[in-house]
Amino acid sequence: MTRDRAGQAMWNSEIERLKRDDLYRVMPVVSGAPGRTIVVNGRHALNLSSNNYLGLAGHPRVVEALVEYTRKYGAGSTASRLMAGSNEPFRELESFIATWKQTEAALVFASGYQANVGILTSLVGHGDLIVSDELNHASIIDGCRLSRAAVQRYPHLDLNVLEDLLKKSDHHTKLVVTESIFSMDGDRAPLKEIDELCKRCGAFLMVDEAHATGVLGPQGQGAAAEVGATPDVQMGTLGKAVGTSGAYVAGGKAMIDLLVNRARSLLYTTAAPPGVIGSALAALRIIASGEGEALRASLTENAREFGALAHNRLGLDLTPGHIVPIPIGESARTMRISSRCLEAGVFAQGIRYPTVPEGTSRLRLSLMSDHTAQDVHKAVTVLEKALGE
Ligand SMILES: *Cc1c(COP(=O)(O)O)cnc(C)c1O
Repeated sequence: MTRDRAGQAMWNSEIERLKRDDLYRVMPVVSGAPGRTIVVNGRHALNLSSNNYLGLAGHPRVVEALVEYTRKYGAGSTASRLMAGSNEPFRELESFIATWKQTEAALVFASGYQANVGILTSLVGHGDLIVSDELNHASIIDGCRLSRAAVQRYPHLDLNVLEDLLKKSDHHTKLVVTESIFSMDGDRAPLKEIDELCKRCGAFLMVDEAHATGVLGPQGQGAAAEVGATPDVQMGTLGKAVGTSGAYVAGGKAMIDLLVNRARSLLYTTAAPPGVIGSALAALRIIASGEGEALRASLTENAREFGALAHNRLGLDLTPGHIVPIPIGESARTMRISSRCLEAGVFAQGIRYPTVPEGTSRLRLSLMSDHTAQDVHKAVTVLEKALGE
């Protein structure tokens, strides 16, 4: 056998194993913009599978800003900003974010994955300790691994174990990291309590607001702003409710300065295109305005209505919120139910290991401010039927 043939055979056997375990993935084929409806595998469906919670990915002003900034500043950023320089769109966006988040400074990364890896590898290292919620996102897990710090995971939201771990530690620097709204469960970390616990135990707190940015807080600044917590490191993404792409870190000047000097996922990668940065700024301006407030109110109302219907018709007691996990358990059944939903016109993606722990496969629905009351009813009706079959 040629080397090429041997490789193909080996990789095929890995794929066969994934298929046997019902963990084989294919990308659904979609067409059109990711609005409240979308064409999936040739079928028109109600879209419950995006993180475009406020519909801003298709907002005319956000799209227009992308075009305008691209005309003015070009299609690409040509290098990292350390090399090519930090152009107006970036300076404008970072200054807006620092004011909006009420922090000394902010820094934009090309993605949330890069931000998390960059933060964790820059702020802690050998001899330090990271204490991480067991359900934290893969990008946090990878950042922990790359940081060379000792890593302890605590049971999801278990503050007693968190406190024990912090009290037992004699590491030089201690950093606690948690999501604010968990991406696959939709529940919330008690940030105020965690913040106080960290202060008491001399630990730094990093919060990932990927799914709360735009959605919570008086001007959409996230969950920390809503409860008045002040984590040392506040990360959020621009690709979810903000509707564009990229991520930010907000906090003290020294922390941001250290990231600029150390974060390899900032230093050794091309900065986001200026058009994307301009459109993120346009989206954040909407989020911070009365229009954003109205979008949040509509999303909250949809989440409330969905929760009430799910309780009455599906017997599910869900954490009320815009991310709705429908627990199924087994992977094959989860994907079957997801297919049935799509056949009935509802795009509700199944989520399996390793995105969630083994044996906890689920449908992960996400609501949008654009969904109508009828959409919410349809989603529950279709789910009820698919779950009953
Ligand atoms: C999506 C996500 C990220 C990564 O953000 P990207 O911009 O998509 O790379 C990080 N953390 C959490 C909790 C996420 O859900």
